[in-house]
Amino acid sequence: MTQVNPFTEDAVRRYPKVELHCHLDGSISLPALRKMAAVTGAELPASDAALRKLVSAPIDTVSLIDYLKRFQIVTDLMQTPEQLRIAGYNMVQTAAADGLIYLETRFAPAIFTEKGLSIREAIAATLDGLHAGSQEFGIPVNAIICAMRDRPLDECITVFQTAAEFKDQGVVGLDFAGDEYHHPTLDLADAVRAGQATGLPFTIHAGEAGPVDNVVVALTLGAKRIGHGVHMSGFPAAIAQTKEAGATIEICPTSNIQTKAVQSWDDFPLAEFLSAGLKVTVNTDDRTVSNVTLTDEFITLRKHFGLDWSLLERLTLNAIDAAFIDDDQKETLRAKVLAARNTSRV
Ligand SMILES: [Zn+2]
Repeated sequence: MTQVNPFTEDAVRRYPKVELHCHLDGSISLPALRKMAAVTGAELPASDAALRKLVSAPIDTVSLIDYLKRFQIVTDLMQTPEQLRIAGYNMVQTAAADGLIYLETRFAPAIFTEKGLSIREAIAATLDGLHAGSQEFGIPVNAIICAMRDRPLDECITVFQTAAEFKDQGVVGLDFAGDEYHHPTLDLADAVRAGQATGLPFTIHAGEAGPVDNVVVALTLGAKRIGHGVHMSGFPAAIAQTKEAGATIEICPTSNIQTKAVQSWDDFPLAEFLSAGLKVTVNTDDRTVSNVTLTDEFITLRKHFGLDWSLLERLTLNAIDAAFIDDDQKETLRAKVLAARNTSRV
């Protein structure tokens, strides 16, 4: 008889997990932020409690725009190559401690150029940190390069074209992030097309702070993955189109509750998306701003939706299927997940 291992926090942490939607600037640990501040002599609150309050969103955050304000203090510390290297290295350290076997982290190099770095230098320094972390902590990590919805389109195109120069150095995809409410996906079409021309695949934030239309436009523009997508809830035609397109949804539960993309756990469309046959993955979005780990997210989904080992495995295999890596790498990751069956069902 099969006996199922208890679904404890520790067991979930040890389970081989994969994350596809994790913003680097929203996920830097407090000790790393202090190291980054020391590079330029920037002052931070002395106590961790006060620092956490500055960089983490409370549950009563009113909107995505309110949530995004937490990033300013962090991005002020991401303006030199040394700071970006610390951030990249720390991202991998955090992922390894959370039991990830593969991570795609994303960042917007244009916001690291306020003190004179070029977009190219910002990408290169961040990749350096990621590679150093990967070597140290033994997990593969790739980068998705974001353009920001509120920045000029010509800059966004430059970001995508510059990102493509790093294709063989760990840049595996492109994204649009930022204020979706005021910048619908349709307005970004020319930049997305320019990005597509580089050959890098797209994931696009859509249906988070904006309406379902943004998801439909993102699919029409060829996005392989949708960041959040929760506003497809209640729109079966859009859900069917996503399924038809073979696109994967990157849901970020805690972040969605904080930004009010979803009003309450009762409204969170996990069961709706799964029963419609959508390929769903679970992600943190921002580990520090949302104050969560991927382990925490799965424990939360167990609490609200009864997630079990078999659903955790399915969500993890979905993430592997949708990762922007080649088939051999996917096979290696799948083997690790399938091997964990023996430890999650002893
Ligand atoms: Zn995001």
